[in-house]
Amino acid sequence: MTTPTDTDDGLTNEEFHASLQAFVGQQIGPAMVAPDEVNVPMIRHWCEAMGDTNPIYLDEAAAQASTHGGLVAPPAMLQAWVMTGLTGPSRSGDGPYEQLTDLLATRGFTSVVATNCEQTYDRYLRPGDRLSMVTTITDVSAQKDTGLGTGHFITTQQDYLDDSGERVGSMVFRIIRFRPRGTSARRPAPATTRDSNWWFEALAAGEVRVQRCSDCGLLRHPPGPMCPRCHSLAYDSVSIDGNGTIHSFVVVHHPQVPGFDYPLPVVLVDVDVTGESVRPVRMVMNTADTDPEAVVIGAAVRIEVRTAGGQHLPFAIVTDAPGGAS
Ligand SMILES: [Zn+2]
Repeated sequence: MTTPTDTDDGLTNEEFHASLQAFVGQQIGPAMVAPDEVNVPMIRHWCEAMGDTNPIYLDEAAAQASTHGGLVAPPAMLQAWVMTGLTGPSRSGDGPYEQLTDLLATRGFTSVVATNCEQTYDRYLRPGDRLSMVTTITDVSAQKDTGLGTGHFITTQQDYLDDSGERVGSMVFRIIRFRPRGTSARRPAPATTRDSNWWFEALAAGEVRVQRCSDCGLLRHPPGPMCPRCHSLAYDSVSIDGNGTIHSFVVVHHPQVPGFDYPLPVVLVDVDVTGESVRPVRMVMNTADTDPEAVVIGAAVRIEVRTAGGQHLPFAIVTDAPGGAS
């Protein structure tokens, strides 16, 4: 059996795209109703798991005194309220989404990777709210060539509604359905956000930088929107001096993602950088020009920006392992 190609169906790429776009605007199945109303026990478990100690979520007195006038749920829990668990009902049948997936498969676009997820919060949720969620297909891209392979981006929007049918939040979710490449796969690009783009742009300019709070001076990594100490949203960054020490590492054997060589050492490096931090500034990276046996905890490394699969990334090169091996 041969792999389907772009024109086995007799359609041009534009005609095939038009047949995909017929699904745009269609709702995927009936509304999903949350199994439980918004409730304090789930909020408590979520806050413990996330380490979120904001008192408006669990401290009744503090919440009463706040602008909310009572307990509210963390906005980022939005999706959690309609999750049905491992044994809950799953979508099946031949609805619009399944038909769209089947149509993409006719051209060999059978692999899938999630690429974007953006949530919007219209209002805070309170204990007692009962949500339902409807999903609509909002966009199907033209055929694109990507590092993973050729395919189409599929965008859906999930709208979360309260008892009265008013929208309380939404989530835009984008995947790519693609035909996997053969042996010449490129590395998948790092997932970047508005808060981390600057870090990758610095790498592209040849610099490894560490984020610094503009108000209290605290260094932090990975990049994020808010200082964990003074909660300032203002930040700048400092350059590292290019050296570090392996704090920990793993050697990945499986699963093997196209674009990487295996076994694949992944090291967590304590980076030498001047400034104040809560704990050593640590970065995850791959190694280069290094005997795998030399990757040990405590080994000194030099950190260099190199190009891999068209991307600029930091790599650790072991310069001195404990015990003298290098
Ligand atoms: Zn700060």
